[in-house]
Amino acid sequence: MMRIVLLGAPGSGKGTQAQRLQAKFNVPQVSSGDLLRDAVARKTALGLKAKAAMEAGQLVSDDIVLGLIRERLSQPDAQQGFILDGFPRNSDQAATLSKLLVEIGQPLQTVLLMDVRTKTLIERLAGRRVCKHCGKVFSIATLPDDMTCAKNLGGHELFQRADDKEEVIAKRLDVYQSQTKPLIDHYTKLGLLKVIKGEGSLDAITTRMEIALALGKSSINVSKKTTKKKSKARTKSKNAGAKAAKKVAKKKSATKLKKAAVKKTSAQKKARAKPAVKSTKKQTKKVTKKSSKKLVKKSTRR
Ligand SMILES: [Zn+2]
Repeated sequence: MMRIVLLGAPGSGKGTQAQRLQAKFNVPQVSSGDLLRDAVARKTALGLKAKAAMEAGQLVSDDIVLGLIRERLSQPDAQQGFILDGFPRNSDQAATLSKLLVEIGQPLQTVLLMDVRTKTLIERLAGRRVCKHCGKVFSIATLPDDMTCAKNLGGHELFQRADDKEEVIAKRLDVYQSQTKPLIDHYTKLGLLKVIKGEGSLDAITTRMEIALALGKSSINVSKKTTKKKSKARTKSKNAGAKAAKKVAKKKSATKLKKAAVKKTSAQKKARAKPAVKSTKKQTKKVTKKSSKKLVKKSTRR
């Protein structure tokens, strides 16, 4: 079960990672922007309301967006979870969203925050280019060899979006920071927030997200184990010189991790089930026994 909200600045790679999780775990990425566009295009009741608001130059109300989310999450493909993107944007919305999710029996599991340094965000956004014909997004740092466009056989004609110009980027990031700060505080208080380092290879970032999702609060202990296992796997595959071995090792460690997580949680449950008082009493008994033994030893030495 994966019921998450994704938070991240423009350029944090949030959208890309959401798509990867969607493909890997078969849970839909639910973007409030897409929901709105879709509802307007299909002229649903909520879509018409949203359209009226937008045409009047007003913001689409939270009620409409929440209504769309409710509709979307009731569909069969969302029963195994969802990745919510673009909503909530403030703590009021977060509170109403939580209420809604509890109401429909799909409470939020985790909020993942993609943490990327401002310097990197600026580099990524300023290097972003979009194809005039197909809308595909490129980075000037990693332009692919295949530059043919489906709609323009001569190739992609790239341009820079006005809001990706450097002087605008700083403002966008400021807006994001001030908007998101209260949201981060809100979810931190609820114990739902997990911070993911959003730099490095796409695979590494996805793995970090999976670990954060699968293992909950004990992720710190286990992630140390993973690195050990991984480095072992790496040396193995280096020796073998085969990419396939690496893949197998990754899969193995992933299943081991899952098993470990299950064991841990059941152990934690058992521990919780026992009354806490008894165990502390036992502990104190043990301690007193030990210390009294020590005392005896000391006194006999004297
Ligand atoms: Zn194109």
